[in-house]
Formats: sequence, structure tokens, C-alpha cells
Amino acid sequence: MSLTKDEARKLLHESALRVTAPRLAVLRVLAEAQNPLSHTEMLERLGETDWDPTTIYRNLIKLRDAGVATVVSRVEGIDRYALAGAGEDGHRHPHFVCEDCGRVACLPAELAAPMSMDGPWATSIQKATIQLRGACPDCLERACEAPR
Ligand SMILES: [Zn+2]
Ligand SMILES: [Zn+2]
Repeated sequence: MSLTKDEARKLLHESALRVTAPRLAVLRVLAEAQNPLSHTEMLERLGETDWDPTTIYRNLIKLRDAGVATVVSRVEGIDRYALAGAGEDGHRHPHFVCEDCGRVACLPAELAAPMSMDGPWATSIQKATIQLRGACPDCLERACEAPR
């Protein structure tokens, strides 16, 4: 999913947030990301800008507080953000944490025990953070290629 500048602006307006250049940029990076992003990963994606890391951090928090972004993964105290309601299931699927390279990836829901969204508990579930840990396919491949 990606947002044009106008769509991003509209989303900020609807959430009663002021439109600023860093906020627009953060929002658009979140929309484009395939995986949830930490503050550091957000800075990497933004590349060279005139904004300092604190400004970007404040904007992430602001978007989170306004409900535009949510924390969908929390690994060792590092929050990772995604656009709220993004994807088919709003990131209710499990997330994979690679213990080698540290990346956090979205996994198809079928990989975890099926979570029924019916029944009396369904309305109680507002968010889910399911973390699976191991070595990601890239790291496994690298491990195989490495001389023993
Ligand atoms: Zn890895
Ligand atoms: Zn996800």
C-alpha cells in the first residue's frame, strides 16, 4: 500500500493532526513498508533529511496517539510501528523475529494457530502481538553457504 501526498494529507486532516513535512514523510514510509518499522528503521528509510531523529520519534508517537499508527511488534523493548488497520487483518497475524539479523517480518496468519474472530472473545481482541522467533530464510541461507 502506498499513499500519495494528498491521501496522506487527508488522513492527517481526518485524524485532526496538523500537516507537517516530517509527519507526511513518516506516514508515507509507514504506508509503503512491507514490515513493521522501528524508529531506527524509519530513519534508514527516510535517508538524508534535515529533521533530527527526535522529530521523527515525536511524529511516530503523535501518529500512534492519534490512532493512525499502531505498535504491532515489541521486541526487547523496541516498538515497531505500522499503519493502523493496514493489510487485511490489521497486523493481527504473527510476526517473526530473526535472532541473527534482528529483522521483524509479517507472517501469513496460517502459520500460527488459527485465531477465530467469532464467538464471545472476538470483540474483546483489539490487537494481537504474536511473536515467533528463529533465523530468517536469508540468515539460514547465509549459514548454509558459510564454510564450516
Ligand atoms: Zn535474519
Ligand atoms: Zn505485520
